[in-house]
Amino acid sequence: LKVNFAPYLDDSLQKAGAVFVLTDITEEERLENMRREFVANVSHELKTPLTSIKSYTETILEGMVDDPETEKTFLEVVNSEADRMSRLVRDLLELTSFDSASVKLKYAQHNINRLISNCILKVKVTADQKRQAIVKRLVDEPISAEFDYDKIEQLVLNILSNAIKYSGEEGIIEIDLKSYEKTFDLVIKDNGIGIPEEDMNRIFERFYRVDKARSRMLGGTGLGLSIAKEIAEAHGGAIGIQSVYGHGTVVTINLPYTQGVGNSETNVV
Ligand code: ADP
Repeated sequence: LKVNFAPYLDDSLQKAGAVFVLTDITEEERLENMRREFVANVSHELKTPLTSIKSYTETILEGMVDDPETEKTFLEVVNSEADRMSRLVRDLLELTSFDSASVKLKYAQHNINRLISNCILKVKVTADQKRQAIVKRLVDEPISAEFDYDKIEQLVLNILSNAIKYSGEEGIIEIDLKSYEKTFDLVIKDNGIGIPEEDMNRIFERFYRVDKARSRMLGGTGLGLSIAKEIAEAHGGAIGIQSVYGHGTVVTINLPYTQGVGNSETNVV
């Protein structure tokens, strides 16, 4: 709480008083701290790959590497660190686009089954490398909803790729669709490493990771879940996560069938 105090005396010197202005700065301060922490995180995340790129290129430029095999290995590191920076910048741009109220979603009717099939196709190569199975249990009849295709695809891909990343060889990833009157749930379940209880309430924070080293090694930016949450909320939906450490994780994405008020008559189920 910030207190401003101004003594007051009228011209005739008859009346005296004071003006107090009380301002609640806790919210202001909280936002400022969040902003500062975000900038510190971004700087750190960009600096790490840059340091590595710099040291490898310097070693090559100084002629310290004499065999082509080692040189190739060094260049591969430089290349993958540059990829990491690209991923980070892409995720940051995506995330900050939700900070301005101007984010415009391109709503249209889309078939949910098709969206899920396309997402599975995109992650299948990675899942196959770990011999993981992706089991899709959707409803048979065509079921459509109104959403921004690219955004919801990204949301689902973020959750699916986490399920793949944080599950072991031969893991099983299940996708279910639950339909309610006005909304539907997409439930993505894995039998992977799970999330410790004490980390659960911080998991949607920007850059928060249970195991920084593991996430980095698997190519994570620590922004996937924050982006997923922003996308769900921008659609008037929500995202929830349940997990048992050592056993697996269930992510539930809840989205409305239609967007905006007054068009609920067009609800397609
Ligand atoms: P990252 O890029 O590190 O994967 P996310 O924002 O997508 O970042 O997720 C944040 C953290 O939440 C991850 O680093 C990981 O520790 C944890 N996490 C997310 N999804 C899962 C999952 N399906 N199983 C286990 N841990 C998960």
